Amino acid sequence: MTLFRASVLDTPASPFTGGRLRSDEDCGLLVEQGVIVARGPFETLRPAHPDEPVLDLREGVLLPGMVDTHVHFPQVRIIGGLGLPLLDWLDQCALPEEMRLADVDHARGVAHDFVAGLVDAGTTTALVFGAHFAGAVDAMFEAADQWGLRVTTGLVTSDRLLPESLLTTPERARVESCELAGRWHGKGRLRYAVTPRFSLSASDALLESCAQTLAEVPGAFFTSHVNENVHEIREVASLFDGEAYVDTYDRRGLLTPRSVLAHDVHPTDRELATLAARGTAVAHCPTSNAALGSGLFPLRRHVEAGVRVALGSDVGAGTGFSLFKEGLQAYFAQQLLGEQGMPLTSAHLLWLSTAAGADALGMADEVGVLSVGRQFDAIWVLPEPGDPLAVGLANAASADDALSKVFALGTSSDVGGVWVGGDQIAAGRWRRPRHR
Ligand SMILES: [Zn+2]
Repeated sequence: MTLFRASVLDTPASPFTGGRLRSDEDCGLLVEQGVIVARGPFETLRPAHPDEPVLDLREGVLLPGMVDTHVHFPQVRIIGGLGLPLLDWLDQCALPEEMRLADVDHARGVAHDFVAGLVDAGTTTALVFGAHFAGAVDAMFEAADQWGLRVTTGLVTSDRLLPESLLTTPERARVESCELAGRWHGKGRLRYAVTPRFSLSASDALLESCAQTLAEVPGAFFTSHVNENVHEIREVASLFDGEAYVDTYDRRGLLTPRSVLAHDVHPTDRELATLAARGTAVAHCPTSNAALGSGLFPLRRHVEAGVRVALGSDVGAGTGFSLFKEGLQAYFAQQLLGEQGMPLTSAHLLWLSTAAGADALGMADEVGVLSVGRQFDAIWVLPEPGDPLAVGLANAASADDALSKVFALGTSSDVGGVWVGGDQIAAGRWRRPRHR
């Protein structure tokens, strides 16, 4: 067992429904075999466990591990391709890079870069948009397994409109997906996600094969894109006889509480009602929405409709892995929406980056907060002495204020330690892939 001593911030209840930031300045967390078995003031916990080693993390703050609900593994090397709207960005930046993942050796290198990016940012759980090639998806699962990250991912499938080498057939998609799930789903911290790229590049038959795969892989997740860009939405409507974008998935039985759709920047009220009724979550990806000019996310309408929302970095249209940046950009977007926006506090930003993601991924009982019974997935925010975040933390007026400073100023470089299931996998610039 290890007794962690730290200033701990987390959000056990949603600030969207009255929850508040939980702040314990000198907190003890007793961790046994990766699970938090006791929590309380250090001065109370220490006498009860006098012989356990203490890890003193009181400089800086300890947060739950970040949960990224939408991030593309093949796109790590093209982050920062600015200046294009969605469909042009796909053609000119993303898809040429995604075609290179046909080469498994290349895919292994990309998977390594990608996982390092997640770990650097303190992301311990992720719903990862995979690749169009089964060998590359194997490489992604292998890399996540080596590092011990909690990753849900799968084969990305499309059967129209994309470059030829990225296309499959409904039958081949089902067979390869089931084979991948057979190798990885439920192994360690890994799970399978059925992943048509988006309805734009998926025929009816492909979406139906996705439904078959979901039926064949109990507990699998479903993920795709929806309502990202107005031009894209018009194209989807014309391909599906005017069907609403959300309905293209829903009519084929693909929307359940184990489904996560990215973006949803331009939903109709009826689509929001459908998402709420199905329990499907939305991955809000604010830097991507801004970079591609997709629009300002209508968070208030989602919350009022009862749709679950979490954060995604959407690398590589998003501008990096850090959910601090995504949280800040989510805050900016709501500010810019004026009266239609939803004012966000730092507690909202932490909730969206951690517990909301855990909830969206069906893992609220395991991760997302640092409570007794949960896995010890945590990050230690430890800025360099003298830098503006360190100065801000030292002079914060309250815990909420300190957390605001973390989101306003924090970067991956400020993540001084990362634990998953009690295993430390990073400290400062040190990284430790776990070997099987
Ligand atoms: Zn995406």
